[in-house]
Amino acid sequence: MKMPDPDATIIARRAAIIADLGRLLAPGNIIADENELRAYECDGLTAYRQLPLAVALPETTGQVSEILRYCQDQGVKIVPRGAGTSLSGGALPLADAVTLGLGKFNRILEIDYANRCVVVQPGVTNKAITDTVEHNGFYYAPDPSSRIACSIGGNVAENAGGMHCLKYGLTTNNVMGLEMVLTSGQVVRIGGRHMESEGYDLLGLITGSEGLLGVITEVTVRILRKPATARAVLLGFPSNEAGGACVGAIIAEGIIPGGMEMMDKLAVGAMEDFVHSGYPRDAEAVLIVELDGPRVEVDYLVRRIEAIARDNGAVSVRISENEEERQMFWAGRMAAFPSIGRISPDYYCMDGTIPRRKLPVVLSRLAELSAHYGLRIANVFHAGDGNLHPLILYDANIPGELEKTEEFGAEILKLCVEVGGVLTGEHGVGVEKRDLMCAMFSDDDLQQQQRVKCAFDPDGLLNPGKVYPQLRRCAELGRVHVHDGQMRFPDIPRF
Ligand SMILES: Cc1cc2nc3c(=O)[nH]c(=O)nc-3n(C[C@H](O)[C@H](O)[C@H](O)COP(=O)(O)OP(=O)(O)OC[C@H]3O[C@@H](n4cnc5c(N)ncnc54)[C@H](O)[C@@H]3O)c2cc1C
Repeated sequence: MKMPDPDATIIARRAAIIADLGRLLAPGNIIADENELRAYECDGLTAYRQLPLAVALPETTGQVSEILRYCQDQGVKIVPRGAGTSLSGGALPLADAVTLGLGKFNRILEIDYANRCVVVQPGVTNKAITDTVEHNGFYYAPDPSSRIACSIGGNVAENAGGMHCLKYGLTTNNVMGLEMVLTSGQVVRIGGRHMESEGYDLLGLITGSEGLLGVITEVTVRILRKPATARAVLLGFPSNEAGGACVGAIIAEGIIPGGMEMMDKLAVGAMEDFVHSGYPRDAEAVLIVELDGPRVEVDYLVRRIEAIARDNGAVSVRISENEEERQMFWAGRMAAFPSIGRISPDYYCMDGTIPRRKLPVVLSRLAELSAHYGLRIANVFHAGDGNLHPLILYDANIPGELEKTEEFGAEILKLCVEVGGVLTGEHGVGVEKRDLMCAMFSDDDLQQQQRVKCAFDPDGLLNPGKVYPQLRRCAELGRVHVHDGQMRFPDIPRF
């Protein structure tokens, strides 16, 4: 008997899936052409690329539901995608999975000032929410640097943070309700416009679940009244350690600034060359501390910050005297990534979190690691949250340099865990940190987490290969595990 040609079988199955999905969508909303698929081949972790089986662009919750039901019936994998800015490869396509793009879910559905919330579709950008309500003196607090581009659905899936999350919380503290489609096609609503929900905290579980539990099709977010005043203090320190110690001293004093960001000398030089914010170039570390609230309170706190900074060895202190100057202090920090992009062919942005009091020791260890690997490192981070973003500068055209960079990155993340921190602050695990999960969690912990995944997605079809060290079927839980503690290219199965 003649065996079927495996390539022909794969091609025929792919064609059938594309034709079936095409029938569920409006014309033009399924992408299968190789050139057009290129636009989706990676997310913000651009070192890794993979063409998806196809891209489906639904426009309604009903279509998402039908697609998921079809995929579950046919055993087809799905990778949800918002704006594709993830830095951990969360939206990296798989060759045998349909990428489900939520870009057409781009409408603001309702502004509800009485309940201080806005209901939006998941493809709406983070910044668009504030743009919609700021004329009435409101804003949406979590402010990732990517807010012009990233979607609120992606923010929920990654539990995104930003410069003002120290005081106002991450995405998880600002989401009130969700509509989500399960792999069975069932549409569920979690939370709402009220403060408390009955039963388990499913909202907390889904926020940060990296597209592994369901596809979010609607988000209700809390909006806040804009503070009456905001002033920023620009501080220069003779060492990273002194800057780190000042961060701890400010919090220990009981002050929670609206934002507290630190940059080291290499980052400051790059930002100054690009944006000219007036940062002290001679300082080894620069700290921006923002105070917001009623004018009297802000003026008092600004003076307290100045005194604490001087006690911790600050060599320069500047306080913003007007809104224009405050914006100028932030402009350099906001342009951190493009500034670094101007001084290095490539850079790799790490994301780990440590207890604040460990900042001085971790910063000096980072300098040692930089010398050991022979790779420059620029530190830009949300100091108040202890969320580090070391940027490793490298050149992908030099053979072996990407691998060396990844090894260096893995050392940094392991260091975060060693000092009592965690593998990620806001960028998620994705594929980037997947194989380091064993450095933080025991086998039992990981199995328990995967049982939760199985309760939502028993066939493991949603975003497989992300977050957990080894893709395995729910029925196999407990039998196999891989511990290698290395970051490496994901072993993406080919279609
Ligand atoms: C220059 C730059 C600066 C950045 N700065 C920050 C920062 O300050 N803070 C920060 O937190 N992050 C930052 N990021 C990372 C990134 O912007 C965030 O992780 C963001 O939340 C991703 O949103 P997205 O719409 O691009 O999601 P994607 O990249 O499209 O997807 C991210 C993850 O969410 C899942 N997902 C997306 N939409 C849905 C949905 N509707 N339902 C279910 N799952 C979904 C995907 O499967 C994937 O796992 C930055 C990125 C860049 C490129």
